[in-house]
Amino acid sequence: MSQDANCLFCRIVTGDIPADIVARTQTVLAFNDIDPQAPTHVLLVPIRHCANAAELAAQSPEVLAELFSVASDIAASRGITGYRTVFNTGAEAGQSVFHVHLHLIGGRSLAWPPG
Ligand code: AMP
Ligand code: ZN
Repeated sequence: MSQDANCLFCRIVTGDIPADIVARTQTVLAFNDIDPQAPTHVLLVPIRHCANAAELAAQSPEVLAELFSVASDIAASRGITGYRTVFNTGAEAGQSVFHVHLHLIGGRSLAWPPG
């Protein structure tokens, strides 16, 4: 499946739902999180629908790598040297949109462990 009409992030990929686009490659789209938790809070998603990081790793490891590569480019372009990249997998971990997305969070100091 390439796109899922019922999936929020597929609809952002197709332009059906507007988003504040930060970067786009052939396989990855990056856009600002609608509810930012830090000065930089970007979501990076594969253009093709995929539910979570484990599925993406099994199906398209090169796209998984591309998510991190684009995240690193965005951080570098903003002069952010320390940042967090997070996949929430499953509802218990806080995943609320079941189209895999890498959170890029930075621009402030970040506490550990997360809540
Ligand atoms: P998660 O809880 O890991 O599934 O992350 C989902 C993220 O999507 C949250 O940080 C939300 O703020 C964000 N989000 C939800 N709807 C939108 C939207 N329309 N545009 C951008 N980000 C969104
Ligand atoms: Zn989707």
